[in-house]
Amino acid sequence: MIDSRAFHALSCGVYVVGAACEGLQAGCVVNTVTQVTATPAQLSVAVNKENVTMGVIRKAGFFSVAVLDESTPMELIGTFGFHSSSDTDKFAEWKSETDAQGMPCLVEHAVARFCVKVKQELDLGTHVLFVGEVLEAQAVGVQAPMTYAYYHQVKGGKTPPKASSYEPSSKETNKAENFQVKEAKSMSEEKRAEQVGWRCTVCGYIEWVDELPDDFKCPICGVGKEMFERVTRPV
Ligand code: FE
Repeated sequence: MIDSRAFHALSCGVYVVGAACEGLQAGCVVNTVTQVTATPAQLSVAVNKENVTMGVIRKAGFFSVAVLDESTPMELIGTFGFHSSSDTDKFAEWKSETDAQGMPCLVEHAVARFCVKVKQELDLGTHVLFVGEVLEAQAVGVQAPMTYAYYHQVKGGKTPPKASSYEPSSKETNKAENFQVKEAKSMSEEKRAEQVGWRCTVCGYIEWVDELPDDFKCPICGVGKEMFERVTRPV
């Protein structure tokens, strides 16, 4: 028996990993950074093979880690978690620095930063696990680091499909939220005691309007109107 709730009991943080090689800067949000040894200090990170970042880390032989704080805006998660480094220079959109190895490292909303030299990699099927030695480590922020549970429960965050912990059911309605998904209806059929909104099925963002314009794009992840589902909540 596999009870998916058991996986929810595993604690982890939210991180942006980055790397650069041959003029391409790549980075993505992960929840898979772990310290695996102290002497020497080594970190591991699992990155989806479909992420541009995986190939860039492999070529570069180094990666940066920024530990995100609890005040990290969803727009930052949207940039690094729901866009591709192949067509978006993610580090240009948020305050970043280049470390001594030439790797881009997010500064904005980072409570700690690491520069890691890859020592080993392990093929995990959908993901590659990189294990590397920490060359630099800095505690740079005073805010609390954001846990993955905080991201989901307080920030209302969703899990990108390429994440290690993605479950298809996580795209469905969160029962803890005080609204319901409904089939689209004309407004005349609606009771006005409900507020109508549209929820992005990719990242969870909700726009509380009766109708979305045809050219509407999600402000968090950038997908179009067709990826939104109708929701309501009591007013
Ligand atoms: Fe979205």
